[in-house]
Amino acid sequence: MSGAHFAFTDRWGGVSAVPYEELNLGGAVGDDPGSVRTNRELAATSLGLDPARVVWMKQVHGPDVVVVDEPWGERPVPEADAVVTTRRGLALAVLTADCTPVLLADPVAGVVAAAHAGRPGMVAGVVPAAVEAMVGLGAEPARIVARTGPAVCGRCYEVPDAMRAEVAAVEPGAYAETSWGTPAVDVTAGVHAQLERLGVRDREQSPVCTIESDDHFSYRREGLTGRLAGYVWLD
Ligand SMILES: [Zn+2]
Repeated sequence: MSGAHFAFTDRWGGVSAVPYEELNLGGAVGDDPGSVRTNRELAATSLGLDPARVVWMKQVHGPDVVVVDEPWGERPVPEADAVVTTRRGLALAVLTADCTPVLLADPVAGVVAAAHAGRPGMVAGVVPAAVEAMVGLGAEPARIVARTGPAVCGRCYEVPDAMRAEVAAVEPGAYAETSWGTPAVDVTAGVHAQLERLGVRDREQSPVCTIESDDHFSYRREGLTGRLAGYVWLD
């Protein structure tokens, strides 16, 4: 059952200036492109990855999944919020700053996936769609290992009452209340409820709440800020 690797970055160890300090890995948040390139190289190298063998997505908060077997190279990056591969050594990356990064691997089948699950993506079912794509490539839910990374927690993610009701109608597991007693959504809990129903039992959740942690980027806390990355790959 070995051979799958999961990693989540924090905000330190890069070259970006305020307000993206330091390890901003997002290329569409207004940071200097040279700094982002350097940060992506630093992050990949620290994980023992070839920066040219990391696949990034153009995330749009939707349910679409793409299957890849090589880096995009000069081709346009498709809009998708989940990416799946069977190619060993090819790392899949997801960018977040409060949304839930979801990494999935079936090391036996040799299939991995990375998904970006914010509130809209979780409701739209991007994580079940990623699992379905993995199953189509030979994965079995009972063998899938799932890891969710740093994200805004259900005690911090305040939403209007109507929005909570709308989300909970689709995914009751995401119903939450803030620490100050107002309506909230717990996206990560929703993701884990979805995975549980699909039979994905080997799951771990990062204890880090991005809004509460000064070591992580948080869009809701900071507005203009950087992006964290989650990486998954097979040996
Ligand atoms: Zn929190």
